Amino acid sequence: MPAQGKNRRSLSRRLALIGTTGAAAVVLPLTAAAGAHAAAPEAAPQKAATTYTVMKGDTLAKIARTHHVDGGWKKLFEINKKAVGADPGVIKPGLKLSLKAAAAAPAVQSAPADSGWTAPVVGVKGGGYGNSGSLWSHGHTGADFPVPTGTSVKAVSNGTVVAAGDGGAYGNQIVIKHGDGHYSQYGHLSSIGVSVGQTVTEGQQIGLSGATGNVTGPHLHFEVRTGPDYGSDIDPLAFLAQHGVNA
Ligand SMILES: [Zn+2]
Repeated sequence: MPAQGKNRRSLSRRLALIGTTGAAAVVLPLTAAAGAHAAAPEAAPQKAATTYTVMKGDTLAKIARTHHVDGGWKKLFEINKKAVGADPGVIKPGLKLSLKAAAAAPAVQSAPADSGWTAPVVGVKGGGYGNSGSLWSHGHTGADFPVPTGTSVKAVSNGTVVAAGDGGAYGNQIVIKHGDGHYSQYGHLSSIGVSVGQTVTEGQQIGLSGATGNVTGPHLHFEVRTGPDYGSDIDPLAFLAQHGVNA
């Protein structure tokens, strides 16, 4: 196959060969494609028809037309660029093409950079939402991030500070109201860097983690709530994950 790959790249040479009857078949990797090609007639009436095996005489334009590919041959080429190679004008019989951009998921996954949300601390995984234990009377209402005292704590999204001060069992806490109606809460802080009414932006440092309140050791306790107060918590890591943040 590597030798054939090289041949495919040599466009001028191939075009010259195509001019002579049958010579194109010499250049096209029919040896490898023969099996797939032979199977094509049976494979053709596939139900959902998400793939297509190139037949002799096919062009991307023709395939795009026949299979109603959204975006036409350009889209078809884009979807199959890896298989087709650099030249959309040349497709080999036997080549399997995807008719749909199954790669829609990666496009979504590239969104986190500007999803508007970020993790409350960098480099450490949170966990423990819903756990039961002696520290929580009604189950654990947030996720704990095991970070040492003094770690920078960031606003997970743009918002307005609605609480900043002593939160009882939460120790020094901050609550931020976000534009989508959710609230984020940060507990056990050693230092609070914002005040009520202040506007904060995604990723802005709002305080430092610590071990104030009801704790067995330093960590950030982080909640996402549907309202400003204790008890309206939802799974904060699932919420962040929905916004493309793996925290
Ligand atoms: Zn906690």
